Amino acid sequence: MRLQLRYYGDPILRKRASDVREFDDALRELAEDMIATMRREAGVGLAATQVGIEKRVLVALQMENPEDSEAPEIVMVNPEVLDRSPDTWIYEEGCLSIPGIRGDVTRPEGIRVRYQDLHGKSHVIDVDGMFARVLQHEIDHLDGKLFIDYLSTGEKTLLKTRLKKIAEKYASQQAPPR
Ligand SMILES: [Zn+2]
Repeated sequence: MRLQLRYYGDPILRKRASDVREFDDALRELAEDMIATMRREAGVGLAATQVGIEKRVLVALQMENPEDSEAPEIVMVNPEVLDRSPDTWIYEEGCLSIPGIRGDVTRPEGIRVRYQDLHGKSHVIDVDGMFARVLQHEIDHLDGKLFIDYLSTGEKTLLKTRLKKIAEKYASQQAPPR
């Protein structure tokens, strides 16, 4: 199934997605479609809420550096950050749901993540660098949080008009609020 990307202004991007309890064929199909969408849009990660599905599922490239677009993908179901390193770093992030906008975001360098795979098996992994950043960005999406939320008040003010334009441009494609 071809998934429709949701854009800034769509209320679903502000919703907390629900835990997945059934590890069935429908879930595996969703993950496959999400990977295809991420690849098609040249993204490095995608959360289910970004395609209008309120489930705690993300796909991401296991990147070692920002140029590593050939990195293999991973699917995480019900991901949760268990621990964060005290070290942080700044990187200019973007988001498929907020086209054309980028901004510096400070995030922990390393994280410990617990997630389930498509069969429901639990895993705990320690990741750092670019991959850790992508995962934090995507897990934020599942909690209704966007990278622009981390920007300073001044930066947000500067982006206000451009964000409004994005919301208006895509308003016709968005599903009506439920
Ligand atoms: Zn995003």
